[in-house]
Amino acid sequence: VFITIEGVEGSGKSTQLLRLSERLRHLGVPLVVSKEPGGTALGRELRRLLLEPHPSGEAWCPEAELLLFYADRAQHLHALIRPSLEAGKVVLVDRFEDSTRAYQGASGVPDSALDRLSELVLRRLRPHLTVLLDMDPETSLQRVEVRNLAYGAEFAETRFDQAALDFHRRVRARFLAVAQAEPNRVAVVPARDPVDQVEAAIWVRVSALLRS
Ligand code: C5P
Repeated sequence: VFITIEGVEGSGKSTQLLRLSERLRHLGVPLVVSKEPGGTALGRELRRLLLEPHPSGEAWCPEAELLLFYADRAQHLHALIRPSLEAGKVVLVDRFEDSTRAYQGASGVPDSALDRLSELVLRRLRPHLTVLLDMDPETSLQRVEVRNLAYGAEFAETRFDQAALDFHRRVRARFLAVAQAEPNRVAVVPARDPVDQVEAAIWVRVSALLRS
């Protein structure tokens, strides 16, 4: 069974992924938990290349960035996701194809290019369930700022200005468009609700899937 968790930054993905994986482990479900970008040894190199600002100031153009995300995904599918699914495990992944639709789509990559790369890399594999933690970016980006102040950012300090807010609004809209197009796969969970309530809403969907 293949389950993904998606959402804008600060929507609580990591917290909920941890809670869900603890519940599943407690039940003795054979489980693999991973993330994108960076779910494999090579993928972690790509994650650094993608997220760490280069000292030269040069930034990836949208097409190069897109190919690196798909390189990470191809390796992740090859080395971890497909073998784990074949071994009968539940595979739980923090971000997957829908993040590419949302983020690289919002960066201006046309859907036709995403469709072609998706066909090459995914070969029709789709998650059985995708949990979309939906939240307005104003709130989620505030959460990220607080988190970065308290714990430090993974890479260089990210500043959220008006342009960033507009970008994240487009990302959210694209996530919701995917959910609308595939309502059977994507469960939209309001992520501003209290953490326990969000956890319960996710569990309703996951437990139903595992019983089916
Ligand atoms: O969720 P996580 O913090 O691991 O995501 C790392 C970063 O990569 C996020 O800032 C997200 O915006 C970005 N990302 C992206 N396109 C993807 C996946 C992640 O821009 N397809």
